[in-house]
Amino acid sequence: MKLNNHSINRVLIVGGTHGNELIGVYSVKLFQQHPELIHRATFESLTLLANPQAVKAGRRYIDKDLNRCFLEENLEDGTLVNYEDLLAKNINHIYGQNGKYPVDFIVDLHSTTSNMGVTVLFDDDKQFNLQLAAYLNYLHPEIKIYSSGSSGRGKHGLRSRAKFAIGIEVGAIPQGVVNADLFLKTQSIVYATLDYLEFYNQNKLPNFSKSFTLYKYTKKIDYPHNENGEITAMIHPDLQFKDYEALAPGDPIFLTFNGETIAYTDALTYPVFVNEAAYYEQSTAMCFTQKHQITI
Ligand SMILES: [Zn+2]
Repeated sequence: MKLNNHSINRVLIVGGTHGNELIGVYSVKLFQQHPELIHRATFESLTLLANPQAVKAGRRYIDKDLNRCFLEENLEDGTLVNYEDLLAKNINHIYGQNGKYPVDFIVDLHSTTSNMGVTVLFDDDKQFNLQLAAYLNYLHPEIKIYSSGSSGRGKHGLRSRAKFAIGIEVGAIPQGVVNADLFLKTQSIVYATLDYLEFYNQNKLPNFSKSFTLYKYTKKIDYPHNENGEITAMIHPDLQFKDYEALAPGDPIFLTFNGETIAYTDALTYPVFVNEAAYYEQSTAMCFTQKHQITI
């Protein structure tokens, strides 16, 4: 079989990077029990339940967010010894580019309390990623494609360990809950991604539309706070569950606890991760994106 020059040799499918995001956890457990589901002829498929203690405890993490532990200097810093720091180092030793089983591609499975539908997330706009995004969006027109590139997230996330990676974020779903519809949709995106990599390796990519909508991260914003650091407002009910919908100057964005509407004043944007539970501690009420029509 003739493989192309930059073929994908090893793929890692990760769930439980956040221990209370159960769609990823149960997807990986399913793949571990039924490896034939993720077996493809031209590459090796591996699975990882990334944060087993957090999964056991039903929490996002034990000491700190594992998905913020993969900065190169942190991996080399011997003084960082809490549970997730050590986990990150161990994962890097096994699957990192100088590791025992270096992986070319990571699929990292997440869920969100925000109404993100099925979002395929890239940490950069490499041509390889855009091609894959176009393919997935062609097969599944209802999905959203989100690039977190300019947020810098690509550098300290687990996905940074591979040459190429995607995240799959599905919601809205509470933490610690599975949902059959979103579980099945997650599966279908995983399989479509593996199929794409197989076609890519075989130089047999089918014809598909090379045009899609890309939502690119621009910035994140915090909730309003008082002098004690407590939040003073909630996501406005008109904005709740409106991820990927236009937010224009003058539109309501927050509602204070005493009932005052706060209007959005900046340029037209498309918010995502609106009211994500895990982002309260990260001082993030939502992320803003710009909408781009991409043709490869
Ligand atoms: Zn997550």
